[in-house]
Amino acid sequence: MLKSINPYTGETLEKFKEHSKSDVSKKIKKADKTFKDWKHTTFARKSELMHNLAEELINNKKDYATAITKEMGKPIAQAIAEIEKCAWVCNYYAEHAENQLKKEIIETDAQESYVRFDPLGVILAVMPWNYPFWQVFRFIAPALMAGNVGVLKHASNVMRCAENIEKAIQNAGFPDGCFQNLIISSKKVENIIRDKRIKAVTLTGSKPAGSAVASIAGEEIKKSLLELGGSNALVVFEDANIEESVKTCVQARFQNTGQSCIAGKRLLVHESIYNEVVEALITETRELKSGDPLEEDTFIGVMAREDLAKDLEDQLNRAIQGGAKVVLGGKRNKTYFEPTIVINVSKKSPIFLEETFGPLISVTSFKTDMEAIDLVNKSDFGLGVSVFTEDFERAKALISQFDDGAVFINSMVKSDPRLPFGGTKDSGYGRELSSDGIKEFLNRKTVYIN
Ligand code: NAP
Repeated sequence: MLKSINPYTGETLEKFKEHSKSDVSKKIKKADKTFKDWKHTTFARKSELMHNLAEELINNKKDYATAITKEMGKPIAQAIAEIEKCAWVCNYYAEHAENQLKKEIIETDAQESYVRFDPLGVILAVMPWNYPFWQVFRFIAPALMAGNVGVLKHASNVMRCAENIEKAIQNAGFPDGCFQNLIISSKKVENIIRDKRIKAVTLTGSKPAGSAVASIAGEEIKKSLLELGGSNALVVFEDANIEESVKTCVQARFQNTGQSCIAGKRLLVHESIYNEVVEALITETRELKSGDPLEEDTFIGVMAREDLAKDLEDQLNRAIQGGAKVVLGGKRNKTYFEPTIVINVSKKSPIFLEETFGPLISVTSFKTDMEAIDLVNKSDFGLGVSVFTEDFERAKALISQFDDGAVFINSMVKSDPRLPFGGTKDSGYGRELSSDGIKEFLNRKTVYIN
Protein backbone atom coordinates (compact mmCIF):
# COMPACT_ATOMS: atom_id res chain seq x y z
CA MET A 1 0.00 0.00 0.00
CA LEU A 2 1.39 3.42 -0.92
CA LYS A 3 0.43 6.35 1.28
CA SER A 4 0.04 10.04 0.60
CA ILE A 5 0.73 12.04 3.74
CA ASN A 6 0.28 15.80 3.97
CA PRO A 7 3.71 16.93 5.23
CA TYR A 8 2.29 20.12 6.74
CA THR A 9 -0.49 18.52 8.83
CA GLY A 10 0.81 14.95 9.09
CA GLU A 11 -2.62 13.72 7.95
CA THR A 12 -2.82 10.57 5.80
CA LEU A 13 -4.61 11.82 2.69
CA GLU A 14 -5.06 8.61 0.75
CA LYS A 15 -3.84 5.03 0.44
CA PHE A 16 -3.18 3.39 -2.91
CA LYS A 17 -3.28 -0.35 -3.44
CA GLU A 18 -0.30 -1.40 -5.51
CA HIS A 19 -0.88 -2.81 -8.99
CA SER A 20 -0.17 -6.52 -9.18
CA LYS A 21 2.31 -8.06 -11.61
CA SER A 22 -0.56 -8.99 -13.91
CA ASP A 23 -2.12 -5.48 -13.69
CA VAL A 24 1.22 -4.02 -14.75
CA SER A 25 1.59 -6.50 -17.59
CA LYS A 26 -1.91 -5.64 -18.86
CA LYS A 27 -1.08 -1.95 -18.81
CA ILE A 28 2.14 -2.48 -20.74
CA LYS A 29 0.23 -4.61 -23.25
CA LYS A 30 -2.30 -1.84 -23.69
CA ALA A 31 0.48 0.74 -24.13
CA ASP A 32 2.20 -1.41 -26.74
CA LYS A 33 -1.07 -1.92 -28.64
CA THR A 34 -1.86 1.81 -28.50
CA PHE A 35 1.62 2.62 -29.81
CA LYS A 36 0.98 0.66 -33.01
CA ASP A 37 -1.77 3.16 -33.97
CA TRP A 38 -0.43 6.21 -32.21
CA LYS A 39 2.83 6.20 -34.17
CA HIS A 40 0.82 6.78 -37.37
CA THR A 41 -1.22 9.66 -35.93
CA THR A 42 -0.69 12.92 -37.84
CA PHE A 43 1.11 15.87 -36.29
CA ALA A 44 -2.05 17.93 -36.79
CA ARG A 45 -4.05 15.54 -34.59
CA LYS A 46 -1.31 15.16 -31.99
CA SER A 47 -0.97 18.97 -31.79
CA GLU A 48 -4.71 19.36 -31.35
CA LEU A 49 -4.69 16.92 -28.42
CA MET A 50 -1.61 18.54 -26.91
CA HIS A 51 -3.27 21.98 -27.04
CA ASN A 52 -6.35 20.40 -25.40
CA LEU A 53 -4.09 19.12 -22.65
CA ALA A 54 -2.66 22.60 -22.05
CA GLU A 55 -6.21 23.93 -21.84
CA GLU A 56 -7.27 21.16 -19.44
CA LEU A 57 -4.37 22.11 -17.16
CA ILE A 58 -5.08 25.84 -17.25
CA ASN A 59 -8.83 25.40 -16.73
CA ASN A 60 -8.25 23.23 -13.66
CA LYS A 61 -4.98 24.65 -12.39
CA LYS A 62 -6.19 25.37 -8.86
CA ASP A 63 -7.35 21.76 -8.38
CA TYR A 64 -4.19 20.21 -9.80
CA ALA A 65 -2.02 22.62 -7.81
CA THR A 66 -3.88 21.87 -4.59
CA ALA A 67 -3.08 18.16 -4.98
CA ILE A 68 0.62 19.06 -5.30
CA THR A 69 0.51 21.30 -2.23
CA LYS A 70 -1.28 18.74 -0.10
CA GLU A 71 0.94 15.83 -1.09
CA MET A 72 4.39 17.40 -0.94
CA GLY A 73 4.02 20.79 0.76
CA LYS A 74 4.85 23.14 -2.14
CA PRO A 75 3.37 26.60 -1.50
CA ILE A 76 0.20 26.97 -3.56
CA ALA A 77 1.37 29.96 -5.65
CA GLN A 78 4.42 27.94 -6.75
CA ALA A 79 2.24 24.89 -7.42
CA ILE A 80 -0.01 26.96 -9.71
CA ALA A 81 3.11 28.25 -11.51
CA GLU A 82 4.18 24.62 -11.97
CA ILE A 83 0.87 23.72 -13.65
CA GLU A 84 1.15 26.78 -15.91
CA LYS A 85 4.62 25.70 -16.92
CA CYS A 86 3.29 22.25 -17.83
CA ALA A 87 0.73 23.94 -20.11
CA TRP A 88 3.60 25.90 -21.68
CA VAL A 89 5.58 22.76 -22.51
CA CYS A 90 2.45 21.17 -24.06
CA ASN A 91 1.83 24.21 -26.26
CA TYR A 92 5.52 24.47 -27.13
CA TYR A 93 5.74 20.91 -28.47
CA ALA A 94 2.29 21.15 -30.10
CA GLU A 95 3.68 24.02 -32.15
CA HIS A 96 7.25 22.89 -32.80
CA ALA A 97 7.43 19.08 -32.86
CA GLU A 98 6.61 18.66 -36.55
CA ASN A 99 9.37 21.01 -37.59
CA GLN A 100 11.85 19.55 -35.08
CA LEU A 101 11.24 16.04 -36.43
CA LYS A 102 11.20 16.73 -40.14
CA LYS A 103 13.61 14.58 -42.11
CA GLU A 104 17.18 15.83 -42.46
CA ILE A 105 18.37 15.64 -46.05
CA ILE A 106 22.05 14.79 -46.44
CA GLU A 107 23.79 15.04 -49.82
CA THR A 108 25.68 11.83 -50.72
CA ASP A 109 26.32 9.75 -53.89
CA ALA A 110 22.75 8.40 -53.67
CA GLN A 111 19.80 9.85 -55.54
CA GLU A 112 18.30 10.61 -52.20
CA SER A 113 19.62 10.21 -48.66
CA TYR A 114 18.30 11.48 -45.39
CA VAL A 115 17.70 10.80 -41.71
CA ARG A 116 14.16 10.37 -40.46
CA PHE A 117 13.03 10.21 -36.85
CA ASP A 118 10.82 7.26 -35.92
CA PRO A 119 9.42 6.60 -32.44
CA LEU A 120 10.65 3.65 -30.35
CA GLY A 121 7.49 2.52 -28.52
CA VAL A 122 6.65 2.35 -24.81
CA ILE A 123 8.98 4.44 -22.64
CA LEU A 124 9.14 4.00 -18.87
CA ALA A 125 9.46 7.20 -16.83
CA VAL A 126 10.64 7.01 -13.20
CA MET A 127 9.99 10.37 -11.60
CA PRO A 128 10.59 12.30 -8.33
CA TRP A 129 8.17 14.13 -6.04
CA ASN A 130 9.73 17.61 -6.02
CA TYR A 131 8.02 18.92 -9.18
CA PRO A 132 5.43 16.15 -9.37
CA PHE A 133 3.70 17.52 -12.50
CA TRP A 134 6.52 19.32 -14.28
CA GLN A 135 9.01 16.42 -14.28
CA VAL A 136 6.37 14.18 -15.86
CA PHE A 137 5.19 16.72 -18.42
CA ARG A 138 8.64 17.60 -19.65
CA PHE A 139 8.98 13.90 -20.51
CA ILE A 140 5.51 13.09 -21.79
CA ALA A 141 4.80 16.15 -23.98
CA PRO A 142 7.72 15.54 -26.37
CA ALA A 143 7.36 11.74 -26.09
CA LEU A 144 3.74 11.80 -27.28
CA MET A 145 4.43 14.35 -30.02
CA ALA A 146 7.25 12.11 -31.29
CA GLY A 147 4.82 9.15 -31.50
CA ASN A 148 5.98 7.28 -28.40
CA VAL A 149 3.72 6.32 -25.49
CA GLY A 150 4.58 6.33 -21.78
CA VAL A 151 4.12 4.45 -18.53
CA LEU A 152 4.94 6.21 -15.28
CA LYS A 153 6.43 5.01 -12.00
CA HIS A 154 6.07 8.13 -9.89
CA ALA A 155 7.57 8.71 -6.43
CA SER A 156 5.59 6.75 -3.83
CA ASN A 157 4.54 9.88 -1.88
CA VAL A 158 2.80 11.67 -4.81
CA MET A 159 0.42 9.03 -6.21
CA ARG A 160 -2.57 11.41 -6.27
CA CYS A 161 -0.59 13.74 -8.56
CA ALA A 162 0.33 10.76 -10.75
CA GLU A 163 -3.31 9.67 -10.99
CA ASN A 164 -4.37 13.24 -11.78
CA ILE A 165 -1.85 13.47 -14.62
CA GLU A 166 -3.27 10.28 -16.15
CA LYS A 167 -6.76 11.77 -15.83
CA ALA A 168 -5.70 15.09 -17.39
CA ILE A 169 -4.23 13.31 -20.41
CA GLN A 170 -7.39 11.25 -20.85
CA ASN A 171 -9.60 14.34 -20.44
CA ALA A 172 -7.64 15.99 -23.25
CA GLY A 173 -8.75 13.17 -25.57
CA PHE A 174 -5.58 11.08 -25.91
CA PRO A 175 -6.24 7.34 -26.35
CA ASP A 176 -6.15 5.58 -22.95
CA GLY A 177 -2.95 3.63 -23.61
CA CYS A 178 -0.90 6.72 -24.46
CA PHE A 179 -0.08 7.40 -20.84
CA GLN A 180 -0.68 5.16 -17.84
CA ASN A 181 0.28 5.48 -14.22
CA LEU A 182 1.66 2.38 -12.52
CA ILE A 183 0.99 2.26 -8.79
CA ILE A 184 4.08 0.38 -7.72
CA SER A 185 7.03 0.66 -5.36
CA SER A 186 10.56 1.02 -6.70
CA LYS A 187 11.25 -2.73 -6.17
CA LYS A 188 9.02 -3.51 -9.15
CA VAL A 189 10.90 -1.26 -11.59
CA GLU A 190 13.53 -3.84 -12.53
CA ASN A 191 11.05 -6.30 -14.07
CA ILE A 192 9.41 -3.52 -16.02
CA ILE A 193 12.70 -2.37 -17.54
CA ARG A 194 13.44 -5.98 -18.51
CA ASP A 195 10.04 -6.35 -20.23
CA LYS A 196 10.59 -6.67 -24.00
CA ARG A 197 7.78 -4.22 -24.73
CA ILE A 198 9.56 -1.41 -22.82
CA LYS A 199 11.99 0.24 -25.22
CA ALA A 200 13.79 2.81 -23.06
CA VAL A 201 13.75 4.41 -19.61
CA THR A 202 14.08 7.97 -18.35
CA LEU A 203 14.72 8.70 -14.68
CA THR A 204 14.76 11.94 -12.74
CA GLY A 205 15.94 11.44 -9.20
CA SER A 206 18.95 10.67 -7.05
CA LYS A 207 22.25 9.08 -8.05
CA PRO A 208 21.56 5.70 -6.38
CA ALA A 209 18.20 5.41 -8.18
CA GLY A 210 19.75 6.50 -11.48
CA SER A 211 22.60 4.09 -11.13
CA ALA A 212 20.27 1.16 -10.33
CA VAL A 213 17.94 1.87 -13.24
CA ALA A 214 20.66 2.61 -15.80
CA SER A 215 22.56 -0.58 -14.88
CA ILE A 216 19.50 -2.72 -15.61
CA ALA A 217 18.77 -0.80 -18.82
CA GLY A 218 22.42 -1.32 -19.82
CA GLU A 219 22.16 -5.08 -19.29
CA GLU A 220 19.06 -5.09 -21.49
CA ILE A 221 20.72 -2.83 -24.13
CA LYS A 222 18.04 -0.20 -23.72
CA LYS A 223 18.65 3.49 -23.85
CA SER A 224 18.42 5.45 -20.59
CA LEU A 225 18.33 9.13 -19.80
CA LEU A 226 19.28 10.36 -16.33
CA GLU A 227 18.40 13.71 -14.75
CA LEU A 228 20.00 13.45 -11.32
CA GLY A 229 20.98 15.68 -8.45
CA GLY A 230 22.82 18.97 -8.53
CA SER A 231 24.83 21.28 -6.33
CA ASN A 232 24.87 24.37 -8.48
CA ALA A 233 27.20 27.22 -7.60
CA LEU A 234 26.19 30.89 -7.62
CA VAL A 235 29.35 32.90 -8.29
CA VAL A 236 29.26 36.58 -7.32
CA PHE A 237 32.22 38.55 -8.68
CA GLU A 238 33.43 41.82 -7.15
CA ASP A 239 31.89 43.92 -9.95
CA ALA A 240 28.40 42.38 -9.65
CA ASN A 241 25.30 44.40 -8.85
CA ILE A 242 25.05 43.13 -5.28
CA GLU A 243 21.41 43.99 -4.63
CA GLU A 244 20.14 42.35 -7.83
CA SER A 245 22.47 39.35 -7.54
CA VAL A 246 21.46 38.59 -3.97
CA LYS A 247 17.75 38.81 -4.85
CA THR A 248 18.29 36.30 -7.66
CA CYS A 249 20.39 34.01 -5.44
CA VAL A 250 17.65 33.93 -2.79
CA GLN A 251 15.08 32.91 -5.40
CA ALA A 252 17.49 30.36 -6.88
CA ARG A 253 18.10 28.72 -3.51
CA PHE A 254 14.80 28.97 -1.64
CA GLN A 255 12.07 28.43 -4.24
CA ASN A 256 10.28 25.10 -3.80
CA THR A 257 11.53 25.27 -0.19
CA GLY A 258 15.01 24.50 -1.50
CA GLN A 259 14.02 21.12 -2.96
CA SER A 260 15.11 21.65 -6.51
CA CYS A 261 17.87 19.92 -8.47
CA ILE A 262 18.90 23.19 -10.13
CA ALA A 263 18.78 25.29 -6.98
CA GLY A 264 21.90 27.39 -6.36
CA LYS A 265 23.14 25.58 -3.29
CA ARG A 266 26.71 26.90 -3.00
CA LEU A 267 27.15 30.68 -2.96
CA LEU A 268 30.73 31.63 -3.90
CA VAL A 269 31.57 35.29 -3.22
CA HIS A 270 34.64 37.37 -4.01
CA GLU A 271 36.40 38.13 -0.71
CA SER A 272 36.26 41.92 -1.25
CA ILE A 273 32.43 41.95 -1.12
CA TYR A 274 31.91 38.93 1.15
CA ASN A 275 30.60 40.78 4.23
CA GLU A 276 28.34 43.03 2.17
CA VAL A 277 26.84 40.05 0.31
CA VAL A 278 26.27 38.05 3.51
CA GLU A 279 24.51 41.05 5.11
CA ALA A 280 22.27 41.50 2.06
CA LEU A 281 21.60 37.78 1.94
CA ILE A 282 20.47 37.72 5.58
CA THR A 283 18.19 40.74 5.03
CA GLU A 284 16.63 39.29 1.87
CA THR A 285 16.18 35.76 3.28
CA ARG A 286 14.52 37.10 6.47
CA GLU A 287 11.80 38.54 4.25
CA LEU A 288 10.71 35.09 2.99
CA LYS A 289 7.35 34.23 4.48
CA SER A 290 7.07 30.75 5.98
CA GLY A 291 3.67 29.28 6.69
CA ASP A 292 0.77 27.11 5.63
CA PRO A 293 1.52 25.96 2.06
CA LEU A 294 -2.15 26.47 1.14
CA GLU A 295 -1.94 30.23 1.91
CA GLU A 296 -1.38 32.33 -1.23
CA ASP A 297 1.41 34.45 0.28
CA THR A 298 3.50 31.61 1.73
CA PHE A 299 6.90 31.31 0.09
CA ILE A 300 8.57 28.72 2.34
CA GLY A 301 6.42 25.67 2.97
CA VAL A 302 7.50 22.44 4.59
CA MET A 303 9.82 19.76 3.30
CA ALA A 304 8.13 16.84 1.58
CA ARG A 305 8.94 14.24 4.25
CA GLU A 306 10.37 14.32 7.76
CA ASP A 307 13.23 11.92 6.89
CA LEU A 308 14.43 14.42 4.25
CA ALA A 309 14.37 17.25 6.81
CA LYS A 310 16.35 15.07 9.22
CA ASP A 311 18.94 14.33 6.52
CA LEU A 312 19.43 18.06 6.00
CA GLU A 313 19.78 18.61 9.74
CA ASP A 314 22.45 15.91 9.86
CA GLN A 315 24.38 17.56 7.00
CA LEU A 316 24.18 20.91 8.80
CA ASN A 317 25.42 19.43 12.09
CA ARG A 318 28.38 17.80 10.35
CA ALA A 319 29.19 21.11 8.64
CA ILE A 320 29.11 22.97 11.97
CA GLN A 321 31.46 20.39 13.49
CA GLY A 322 33.83 21.13 10.61
CA GLY A 323 33.90 24.88 11.39
CA ALA A 324 30.97 26.32 9.41
CA LYS A 325 28.83 28.97 11.13
CA VAL A 326 25.05 29.44 10.97
CA VAL A 327 24.12 33.14 10.63
CA LEU A 328 20.40 32.65 9.99
CA GLY A 329 17.94 29.85 10.78
CA GLY A 330 19.31 26.37 11.36
CA LYS A 331 16.40 24.96 13.35
CA ARG A 332 13.99 22.16 12.36
CA ASN A 333 10.51 21.37 13.64
CA LYS A 334 9.24 18.11 12.11
CA THR A 335 9.03 18.84 8.35
CA TYR A 336 9.64 22.58 8.72
CA PHE A 337 13.23 23.72 8.25
CA GLU A 338 14.03 27.39 8.77
CA PRO A 339 15.58 29.18 5.80
CA THR A 340 19.23 28.79 6.73
CA ILE A 341 22.44 30.62 5.82
CA VAL A 342 25.78 29.00 6.65
CA ILE A 343 29.05 30.91 6.23
CA ASN A 344 32.74 29.95 6.46
CA VAL A 345 32.00 26.83 4.43
CA SER A 346 35.21 25.17 3.27
CA LYS A 347 35.57 23.05 0.16
CA LYS A 348 35.81 19.96 2.40
CA SER A 349 32.53 20.64 4.19
CA PRO A 350 29.70 18.12 3.70
CA ILE A 351 27.36 20.94 2.65
CA PHE A 352 29.86 21.90 -0.07
CA LEU A 353 30.50 18.37 -1.32
CA GLU A 354 27.05 16.78 -0.93
CA GLU A 355 23.73 17.90 -2.41
CA THR A 356 21.65 19.75 0.20
CA PHE A 357 18.00 19.25 -0.70
CA GLY A 358 16.22 21.86 1.42
CA PRO A 359 16.24 25.55 2.39
CA LEU A 360 19.93 25.94 3.23
CA ILE A 361 22.55 28.00 1.43
CA SER A 362 26.29 27.66 2.02
CA VAL A 363 28.64 30.62 1.55
CA THR A 364 32.32 30.35 0.59
CA SER A 365 34.75 33.10 -0.40
CA PHE A 366 37.27 33.16 -3.25
CA LYS A 367 40.13 35.44 -4.30
CA THR A 368 40.67 34.94 -8.04
CA ASP A 369 38.70 33.90 -11.12
CA MET A 370 40.73 30.68 -11.30
CA GLU A 371 39.89 29.82 -7.70
CA ALA A 372 36.19 30.46 -8.41
CA ILE A 373 36.27 28.11 -11.42
CA ASP A 374 38.06 25.48 -9.36
CA LEU A 375 35.44 25.71 -6.58
CA VAL A 376 32.58 25.44 -9.07
CA ASN A 377 34.10 22.36 -10.72
CA LYS A 378 35.06 20.76 -7.40
CA SER A 379 31.52 19.37 -7.10
CA ASP A 380 30.80 15.84 -8.29
CA PHE A 381 27.61 17.26 -9.81
CA GLY A 382 27.43 19.26 -13.02
CA LEU A 383 23.93 20.54 -13.63
CA GLY A 384 24.46 24.29 -13.90
CA VAL A 385 26.22 27.40 -12.63
CA SER A 386 25.15 31.04 -12.30
CA VAL A 387 27.72 33.84 -12.65
CA PHE A 388 27.05 37.41 -11.53
CA THR A 389 29.17 40.21 -13.02
CA GLU A 390 28.67 43.46 -14.92
CA ASP A 391 31.54 42.53 -17.28
CA PHE A 392 30.02 40.29 -19.98
CA GLU A 393 33.35 39.77 -21.75
CA ARG A 394 34.89 38.45 -18.55
CA ALA A 395 31.90 36.16 -18.02
CA LYS A 396 32.00 34.88 -21.59
CA ALA A 397 35.69 34.07 -21.27
CA LEU A 398 34.89 31.80 -18.32
CA ILE A 399 32.03 29.82 -19.89
CA SER A 400 34.12 27.09 -21.53
CA GLN A 401 35.96 26.42 -18.27
CA PHE A 402 32.93 25.20 -16.34
CA ASP A 403 32.12 21.46 -16.38
CA ASP A 404 28.37 22.00 -16.03
CA GLY A 405 25.54 21.36 -18.47
CA ALA A 406 24.41 25.00 -18.26
CA VAL A 407 25.94 28.42 -17.57
CA PHE A 408 23.60 31.31 -16.79
CA ILE A 409 24.99 34.84 -16.55
CA ASN A 410 23.20 37.24 -14.15
CA SER A 411 20.31 34.79 -13.88
CA MET A 412 19.34 31.76 -11.88
CA VAL A 413 19.55 28.42 -13.69
CA LYS A 414 16.05 27.51 -14.83
CA SER A 415 14.47 25.10 -17.25
CA ASP A 416 12.73 26.46 -20.34
CA PRO A 417 10.96 24.33 -23.00
CA ARG A 418 12.99 26.13 -25.71
CA LEU A 419 16.39 25.27 -24.22
CA PRO A 420 18.07 21.89 -23.71
CA PHE A 421 18.23 20.81 -20.06
CA GLY A 422 20.56 18.25 -18.51
CA GLY A 423 23.77 17.68 -16.66
CA THR A 424 27.25 16.22 -16.65
CA LYS A 425 29.16 14.08 -14.11
CA ASP A 426 26.91 12.77 -11.30
CA SER A 427 24.05 14.96 -12.54
CA GLY A 428 23.39 12.44 -15.29
CA TYR A 429 23.35 12.34 -19.07
CA GLY A 430 21.06 13.11 -21.96
CA ARG A 431 18.96 16.19 -22.51
CA GLU A 432 15.31 17.04 -22.01
CA LEU A 433 13.29 19.88 -23.55
CA SER A 434 13.92 21.76 -26.85
CA SER A 435 14.61 19.91 -30.10
CA ASP A 436 17.36 17.93 -28.31
CA GLY A 437 14.89 16.48 -25.80
CA ILE A 438 12.35 15.31 -28.33
CA LYS A 439 15.06 13.38 -30.21
CA GLU A 440 16.31 11.34 -27.23
CA PHE A 441 13.91 8.41 -27.66
CA LEU A 442 13.83 8.02 -31.41
CA ASN A 443 15.25 5.78 -34.07
CA ARG A 444 17.38 8.11 -36.19
CA LYS A 445 16.82 6.10 -39.33
CA THR A 446 19.34 6.52 -42.14
CA VAL A 447 17.71 6.21 -45.56
CA TYR A 448 19.76 5.75 -48.77
CA ILE A 449 17.96 5.51 -52.12
CA ASN A 450 20.07 4.71 -55.16
P1 NAP B 1 14.80 9.27 -5.54
O1 NAP B 1 14.70 8.74 -4.17
O2 NAP B 1 15.93 8.88 -6.36
O3 NAP B 1 13.43 8.88 -6.28
C1 NAP B 1 13.17 9.20 -7.61
C2 NAP B 1 12.31 8.11 -8.23
O4 NAP B 1 13.09 6.93 -8.35
C3 NAP B 1 11.10 7.74 -7.39
O5 NAP B 1 10.05 7.40 -8.25
C4 NAP B 1 11.59 6.51 -6.62
O6 NAP B 1 10.55 5.68 -6.21
C5 NAP B 1 12.44 5.85 -7.68
N1 NAP B 1 13.49 4.97 -7.17
C6 NAP B 1 14.25 5.13 -6.07
N2 NAP B 1 15.15 4.13 -5.95
C7 NAP B 1 14.95 3.32 -7.02
C8 NAP B 1 15.55 2.10 -7.46
N3 NAP B 1 16.55 1.54 -6.81
N4 NAP B 1 15.08 1.52 -8.59
C9 NAP B 1 14.07 2.10 -9.27
N5 NAP B 1 13.47 3.24 -8.91
C10 NAP B 1 13.90 3.85 -7.79
O7 NAP B 1 14.77 10.85 -5.56
P2 NAP B 1 13.79 11.84 -4.84
O8 NAP B 1 14.13 11.92 -3.40
O9 NAP B 1 12.37 11.50 -5.18
O10 NAP B 1 14.13 13.21 -5.58
C11 NAP B 1 15.20 13.99 -5.20
C12 NAP B 1 16.39 13.81 -6.12
O11 NAP B 1 16.02 14.01 -7.47
C13 NAP B 1 17.45 14.85 -5.85
O12 NAP B 1 18.73 14.28 -5.91
C14 NAP B 1 17.24 15.85 -6.97
O13 NAP B 1 18.34 16.67 -7.23
C15 NAP B 1 16.89 14.94 -8.10
N6 NAP B 1 16.22 15.70 -9.18
C16 NAP B 1 16.88 15.92 -10.34
C17 NAP B 1 16.29 16.66 -11.35
C18 NAP B 1 16.97 16.93 -12.66
O14 NAP B 1 16.31 17.39 -13.58
N7 NAP B 1 18.25 16.69 -12.80
C19 NAP B 1 15.01 17.17 -11.15
C20 NAP B 1 14.38 16.93 -9.95
C21 NAP B 1 14.99 16.19 -8.96
P3 NAP B 1 10.08 5.67 -4.66
O15 NAP B 1 9.51 7.01 -4.36
O16 NAP B 1 9.05 4.60 -4.64
O17 NAP B 1 11.28 5.36 -3.85
